[in-house]
Amino acid sequence: MLDSYGRKIDYLRISVTDRCNLRCGYCMPKGIETVSMDELLTFEEIADVAGAAAKLGITKVRITGGEPLVRRDVDRLVRMLKDISGIEKVFITTNGILLKDHLDSLITAGIDGINLSLDTTNRERYRMLTGSDRLDDVLLGMESVLLRGIPLKINAVSADLSKLEEKNRKVEDGGLSEDVLSLIELAKDRPVSVRFIELMPIGFGKDFPGIPHDVFIPRIKEHFAGIKKDEAGPVNGPAVYYHIPGYKGRIGFISAIHGKFCDGCNRIRLTSMGFLKSCLCYNTGVSVSKILKGGLPEKEKEEALCLAVKKTIAMKPASHSFTEQDQITERHAMSAIGG
Ligand code: SAM
Ligand code: SF4
Repeated sequence: MLDSYGRKIDYLRISVTDRCNLRCGYCMPKGIETVSMDELLTFEEIADVAGAAAKLGITKVRITGGEPLVRRDVDRLVRMLKDISGIEKVFITTNGILLKDHLDSLITAGIDGINLSLDTTNRERYRMLTGSDRLDDVLLGMESVLLRGIPLKINAVSADLSKLEEKNRKVEDGGLSEDVLSLIELAKDRPVSVRFIELMPIGFGKDFPGIPHDVFIPRIKEHFAGIKKDEAGPVNGPAVYYHIPGYKGRIGFISAIHGKFCDGCNRIRLTSMGFLKSCLCYNTGVSVSKILKGGLPEKEKEEALCLAVKKTIAMKPASHSFTEQDQITERHAMSAIGG
């Protein structure tokens, strides 16, 4: 379906939980309350919304959270979504802690690709950022995905993690931290896209030491001789990709603020409590929880859900306003929205 600005909306991001087994400082630091389990949509309810969305042209779905793999049997949801007529691809975004245990069942269920969020391969800074010591599990999960040949992207927020350290080291090497360089290194011998995401001023992202992309991208270009924009490789979504000579994988930048990509926005979001969101920046959208829990006959429920999806798409704004703090109406933490 086209929205009021002529954009084709074919992508639905589904958050299946607001809970997480990490406490990333920019997303869900310690002390955040989560909703009770019985307020979450069931998989059947999620599939009903996805089915209505598919009727209106949604072809790609991403399961996210909170951490989607902490929700029991998430592979069953993957299978249910894959079975919906019109849904062509189902992806998942995860922090990777539980990946190695769930990979087989995700693959059996038909997962089409995995995005792994990882901001550093340095054990100490990983622990400081996430509150967890389980970097090894994440790296093992990453290698398992590659071994199984499942398309993998690594997502890192562009931030200065040295600011989290007590001694507050100065970032050397032309302004590129060891964290950034070691993440890029992952693309040297592996067929992965390592993507850097410009921090958005949503939830705790507002107060985190992000590095704006008008500063970050030039630093990377300066550091890597011969780096070239990848015009040939597959592009879907907001990332701009680059190729570094001799690297198997590529690197990408998702620059919500300094490379605003709202013109090409193709998505809506469903939160774990059943709110269809029209844009990450605003609280606009439609709640579907009453429709889902109201005991309507199947046909009526389907019609009401289709109407809710249409209304949500119609509410999509021309663009976000992340640079104007007073215009951001989204008040939830990113863990409650799904990123
Ligand atoms: N727990 C999963 C994970 O970490 O991949 C899925 C949910 S998490 C909210 C999805 C993505 O949002 C992660 O890659 C995370 O780094 C990113 N994220 C969280 N807060 C953000 C912010 N303020 N700006 C940009 N990205 C953010
Ligand atoms: Fe959890 Fe993902 Fe948020 Fe980190 S970014 S706290 S892993 S939901």
